[in-house]
Amino acid sequence: MTEKILVILKENKDFISGEKIAKLLNVSRAAVWKNISKLKNMGYNIISVTNKGYLLVENNFLFNKLEIEKELNTFVLGKNIYFFEEINSTNDYAKKLINSNIEIEEGTLIVADCQTSGKGRLDRKWESNKGDGIFLSLILKPDIELFSIMQVTLLAGICVCKAINSITGLNAKIKWPNDIIINNKKVCGILTEVNAQIDKVSYIILGIGINVNNQKFDVALGDKATSIFLETNKNIERQKIIANLLKEFENNYFKYIKEKDFSIFLDEYKSLCININQVCKLIYHKKEIIGKVIDISPLGEIIFETENEILKIVSGEVSLRSINGNYI
Ligand code: ADP
Repeated sequence: MTEKILVILKENKDFISGEKIAKLLNVSRAAVWKNISKLKNMGYNIISVTNKGYLLVENNFLFNKLEIEKELNTFVLGKNIYFFEEINSTNDYAKKLINSNIEIEEGTLIVADCQTSGKGRLDRKWESNKGDGIFLSLILKPDIELFSIMQVTLLAGICVCKAINSITGLNAKIKWPNDIIINNKKVCGILTEVNAQIDKVSYIILGIGINVNNQKFDVALGDKATSIFLETNKNIERQKIIANLLKEFENNYFKYIKEKDFSIFLDEYKSLCININQVCKLIYHKKEIIGKVIDISPLGEIIFETENEILKIVSGEVSLRSINGNYI
């Protein structure tokens, strides 16, 4: 009911009485009052005036479960949402859900406004300050082989780029395998974790962190990181990006699950990937190899040419760095 009252308040540009809301929803005035208090506690600025009723002062930047639900136009992804103002890590919460006795549906979405121990790959820290970013995890249950998880991650990279680019007009690109880059700086990281039996996947946890309204970053990140705000000078409603991303990903993910073939997305991935033809350093099992990325294979591996050989490398504990060791 809280959501329905919110919709009514948003639609009414003038005061609306509790009695009228109660009639519209066929509930008691006490129930209206209780839910208005709930909305106020969630941060909504609702003015109450005796004999006039309630008026919502719009603030597009409130970020909560209701605002996300209102934007979503997906069928499966985000049907169940767990929202937290603060959490250690949305991926860790997803793992907790999977290991609980609750039946977890495909597309369950965990979103937080802040993470206290956001992670990148290899347990590296992901800066996750309150109010600035998108921190989400999607729980997927694809019927695919373990090897193919990488392809789901690559697909998510394509969708993050498309969502950012369509909403902001920016030109986000992919650094293989799945860092999203704007003007040579990292705007998003994707961390996929898996729960598998033998070589079949039971669950994939697709964790996505996007820097949206950050005005600055920890000095330790130097100039490796950027945000949509830093690139456009505009604050963006995070729920809009989430909705666009989930819609894009839903279309492509189910196409992928049906065809079980990444090659249908290969041209698009390659057109977004910054590494092709790049001479760079590949860091692989603590070894560093200099070479050139000559292509991406239909399976999503990079094809890396060194002085003596051509290597095909699957993502995992691999990083690409520029020759001088910089991030790009
Ligand atoms: P890599 O960029 O080496 O592939 P990961 O994908 O594991 O690494 O991401 C973690 C790294 O990303 C951290 O070591 C840090 O350098 C960087 N990082 C941490 N938080 C952010 C952030 N909010 N935005 C951009 N980069 C970040």
